Amino acid sequence: MNRLALVAILVAACSKTSAPPQQAPVPLSQLPSVDPQAILAHTRVLSSDEYEGRGPGTKGEELTVRYLIDQFQKLGLKPGGTDGTYVQKVPLVGITPAPAPLVLEKGSRRLTLTWKDDVVAWTKHVANSASINRSELVFVGYGIVAPEYKWDDYKGVDVKGKTLVMLVNDPAVPDDPQAFGGRAMTYYGRWTYKYEIGMQKGAAGVLIVHETEPAGYPFEVVQAKTTEQFDLVTPDKNMGRVNVEGWITRDRAKELMTLAGQDFDALKKQAATREFKPVPLGVTASMTIKNTLRTIDSQNVLAKLEGSDPALQDEYVVYTAHWDHLGIGPEQNGDRIYNGAKDNAIGVAGLLELARAYTKVSPAPKRSILFLSVTAEEQGLLGSQYYAVTPVYPLRKTLADINMDGLNVHGRTKDLTLIGYGASELDDYAKAAAAEQGRVIRPDPESEKGFYYRSDHFNFAKQGVPALDPDEGTDFIGKPAEYGTQVRDDYTEHDYHKPSDVIKADWDLSGAVEDLQVFFAVGYRVAQSAKYPDWKPGNEFKATRDAMLKNSEPGN
Ligand SMILES: [Zn+2]
Repeated sequence: MNRLALVAILVAACSKTSAPPQQAPVPLSQLPSVDPQAILAHTRVLSSDEYEGRGPGTKGEELTVRYLIDQFQKLGLKPGGTDGTYVQKVPLVGITPAPAPLVLEKGSRRLTLTWKDDVVAWTKHVANSASINRSELVFVGYGIVAPEYKWDDYKGVDVKGKTLVMLVNDPAVPDDPQAFGGRAMTYYGRWTYKYEIGMQKGAAGVLIVHETEPAGYPFEVVQAKTTEQFDLVTPDKNMGRVNVEGWITRDRAKELMTLAGQDFDALKKQAATREFKPVPLGVTASMTIKNTLRTIDSQNVLAKLEGSDPALQDEYVVYTAHWDHLGIGPEQNGDRIYNGAKDNAIGVAGLLELARAYTKVSPAPKRSILFLSVTAEEQGLLGSQYYAVTPVYPLRKTLADINMDGLNVHGRTKDLTLIGYGASELDDYAKAAAAEQGRVIRPDPESEKGFYYRSDHFNFAKQGVPALDPDEGTDFIGKPAEYGTQVRDDYTEHDYHKPSDVIKADWDLSGAVEDLQVFFAVGYRVAQSAKYPDWKPGNEFKATRDAMLKNSEPGN
């Protein structure tokens, strides 16, 4: 049976029930328009030198938060915080580890890994120090537990108090090429997952073996983590996390395996099979990390448009855009202010302009719309993580997150990119909306790099909430085929995370306006829909969502 036939049967089945037929959605062309001049004006303020690059905990934060609250109030939006304010306080800690060696021992033999050259490690414990002391090393392959792929690297082996050695990324399984999304990276491949599963298993430490190709970046990127890193302060001061989280180079990992009487390449091969079992290495690891700590109170800013349907107004569609950027930093070409116009003043401007458009739409949304501008994205998606783990509104009543991180500033495109395309039904909404503009959806061209896990929407996804991660199109109307790649590479090379990320004279927001119109249609239609959007079968976040919705049924 083809899908159309199935739809016909379902429609016939539905029409027999007493439920009223669902209203046809308002066509995209009849939604209130989004104003490019307003986007530019907000971007100009937020990316001005006066705002000092919007670093968390600085004068730039104060000004940004005040501006956002002011704008939300002017639009008549209600405070998004349950305490009657427009802010959610986000406690952050900056942790700077002191250099320390990692000592590996087997009997009288010893291998010492040098800080930064061979090993980069830290502790997330909000404490003056943390250590592993003669902790037994166990190689756990990719360290993954993924029921939807029938995968468990632990096989019931107790690894409490041990230090786990893991491979980065997810396995390419020779006899099952579709496992773990094929070429695309699933969340099981991200380094953050490795430390989280180690924590769930009660391990004392986790060491990831760095390999450039599967990681997607060289060891230098890991070495940057020897400076101050920010994290959230959880009620347990992160003491539930493993004592030591770190990376070791592949060359040193090979020496470690040799010391253990093992062969790295052979182990790696075994690790790509479902039969793999943890391999105790007979080697112990010792390391003590001393911290310098400082705490910062930052803020998420949130405003809501209350839903018009009393039965649905406690259900939410969320839009996110991070307000923070890098603040004042090292001087480049005589400039120290990292203005972050494209990253992400313009995304916040888009959020404000969408909020304005929402106040004009008819009929008014049935469900509530939450406009959430989060902090500390640049420090590791911390503001959105804080919202997602301590949500103001229950996540089981949150239908979707739509995230904006950067907007297209080079004119209209025939396409719109969706990172992680095919993850959820939100992609179908976006596809339908783009089609009304005569545009097409393009999947992420570099899905193996795991970009879906690198912006704020991901924290919603991880907790189970379907999340849309749109990116700029690349097929520009009236421009040569290579133009899209050219402007993207130009930005990455010259302006990304540099003081020169400012508004440029040649910006053309006509494409951004069309993209925002799509985001508007998606959120609005979800807010009006009879049904919650779902993850697609096989998606790694579906089980979490299913469990959440099941537990929220009355009587459960
Ligand atoms: Zn950004």
